[in-house]
Amino acid sequence: MPPENLTCQLVEGLRVKVPFGKRELIGLIVNTSAESEFALDDLKRIIEVIDQEPVIDASMMKLFKWAATYYHYPLGQVIHNALPTRVRQGKTLTIKTNSDSNSQENAKELTPQLHLNDEQEQVKASILQQGNGFHCFLLEGVTGSGKTEVYMQLIAEKVQAGLQVIMLVPEISLTPQTIQHLQGRFADKIVAIHSGLTDKQRFMAWTDARLGDADIIIGTRSAIFTPLRRPGLIIIDEEHDGSYKQQEGFRYSARDLAIYRAQLFDIPIVLGSATPSLESLHNALRKRYSLMSLEQRAAKAKQPTFACIDLKGKALSEGFSEQLLAAIKSHLQQNKQVLIFLNRRGYAPLLQCHDCGWTASCPRCETSYTLHRNSPELRCHRCESQRKIIPACPSCQSKALLPIGLGTERTEKKLEETFPDVPVFRIDRDTTRNRGKLENIISEINKGQAAILVGTQMLAKGHHFPEVTLVAVLDADAGLFSSDFRGQEFMGQLLIQVAGRSGRGENAGEVLIQTHNSTHPTLRSLINDGYKKFSRTLLEQRDITNLPPFSYQVLIRAEASNASLPMSFLQDVKNLTKKMLTNTTFALGPLPAPMEKRAGRFRFQLLLQSSSRAELHTLLNHLVPAYEALPQSRKVRWSIDVDPLDFS
Ligand code: ADP
Ligand code: ZN
Ligand code: ZN
Repeated sequence: MPPENLTCQLVEGLRVKVPFGKRELIGLIVNTSAESEFALDDLKRIIEVIDQEPVIDASMMKLFKWAATYYHYPLGQVIHNALPTRVRQGKTLTIKTNSDSNSQENAKELTPQLHLNDEQEQVKASILQQGNGFHCFLLEGVTGSGKTEVYMQLIAEKVQAGLQVIMLVPEISLTPQTIQHLQGRFADKIVAIHSGLTDKQRFMAWTDARLGDADIIIGTRSAIFTPLRRPGLIIIDEEHDGSYKQQEGFRYSARDLAIYRAQLFDIPIVLGSATPSLESLHNALRKRYSLMSLEQRAAKAKQPTFACIDLKGKALSEGFSEQLLAAIKSHLQQNKQVLIFLNRRGYAPLLQCHDCGWTASCPRCETSYTLHRNSPELRCHRCESQRKIIPACPSCQSKALLPIGLGTERTEKKLEETFPDVPVFRIDRDTTRNRGKLENIISEINKGQAAILVGTQMLAKGHHFPEVTLVAVLDADAGLFSSDFRGQEFMGQLLIQVAGRSGRGENAGEVLIQTHNSTHPTLRSLINDGYKKFSRTLLEQRDITNLPPFSYQVLIRAEASNASLPMSFLQDVKNLTKKMLTNTTFALGPLPAPMEKRAGRFRFQLLLQSSSRAELHTLLNHLVPAYEALPQSRKVRWSIDVDPLDFS
């Protein structure tokens, strides 16, 4: 009910203070109604209306409501997720006077635009030609083709026309270069929104965007919820990147929400990648999006050449074939840099007793501990728990404990021993944990002397190391035999992105891939035909097998410290669901999750799949309340994941 002495109209998007049990909480008006199904006496009055004008405008409210419906997630939680802490706490939103930003006349020299090559020019022109209304573009541009330059010039056009632009990037901390480029070009018109901000910084960035004081908002997935005063364009860089999907709580895809937001706001959106997701590609090939491509590297750089090193029967030294070591040596001798890719951090993924076969494993996850040596400990990569390195086997007391398999620390050590005169930089989550650490490593690398870079997929993310002429993939086999139906797509994207770090400067680049399966058709197709053809072939296979994007999925997960509870809960869910299944919509499971135990909890899942998205959502709209009413539903931790990406 309205407060006693109401001075303004109650509308959606205003924050209010309300009684809640014995407490007082801050809420947001999401709906108003002149009637109520409750008796007047049962209704409580708003204590105070906090804002003069809505914090969230009508279009944003529509976006939140759509997201809540689409992801079957409570609207309150959706909004909670989207608003900065200070806004949720009810802090007053001051109307800013522009005096402070104008006072420090920034005399910084801005970097000039580059002269676009013909391909880039064409892409820019066709995007601008479509005008200011909604249109979705998929920019498929090979690594190093100068997508960033195209984005920056599009941004410049919009900003000049008085409009604001949101640009999403996968992980800002991993690509500090992108921000630096933008700041060099646009100086203080930019705000960055990412997880590294303090509450106050986030609040200020959000306010600047909302009031239109910032022209360009660059940020990670949650930045898609930033309110804008004069929306003009959304750009999603590396649109295939898995980090756009939130994997906990509100499991939204920032890319998909961005497309819906562009539609709501009636503005264009550009999705860019060298390795587009099959979802976006499918939409583009079906002409729902306009497909544009950049096939050449910008500037003088050429695409690197690929070759496989077949490891079958060959002697290996800490994972390196002689052929690879020779290649590394030769590139270093020419004073070039070499990048070694290995998607496993730590020293070795397994510590095993040589005498009895015992392995060190995390009791909470029933998975082997990874041995770390730099900060000596055993660490579980599932739950991040750790313990001291044990001196002897607890089962037979033998001291012969062997590290099995390769991690980045071990590879780093091997390279330091083999090439003692050359600096080795390791880049993984362990070496870059502290703020600014990655920036330091990158600037050290870009001084340009001969060097070796060893790292995980962090190295694949959009970096520009002009002196790298050799990229080596130490072990391509793991990705070839994944149980996930997206495994080959992910492997292809990762390989092409890592390979894309080679030969970005003046000198031609080379990519060497070590594998025991050099004739594997997927690998051959990727290497011989490139991602473009490879991805179209994968799409055809998805079509034949009726997998996404040719069908739609929802994954219902359940976990508990006791294995039978989640299983029986999901069985009940399935029984409820059965009535509504058709010949186009089916349920698979319940089955144990591939990662069956994590942090002491047993994990199960039930997959719903349909060739009709509408049918699937109608089913959930009907059934979610029934799932919630199941007696077990309070005893297990369960969730609904719409368009799941991660099945682990
Ligand atoms: P992508 O994002 O497509 O991988 P980048 O935008 O990082 O590619 O561009 C790769 C390199 O090419 C960068 O060093 C960039 O400065 C340069 N570059 C881009 N466009 C041009 C251009 N039109 N002329 C000269 N150099 C360019
Ligand atoms: Zn033993
Ligand atoms: Zn664990």
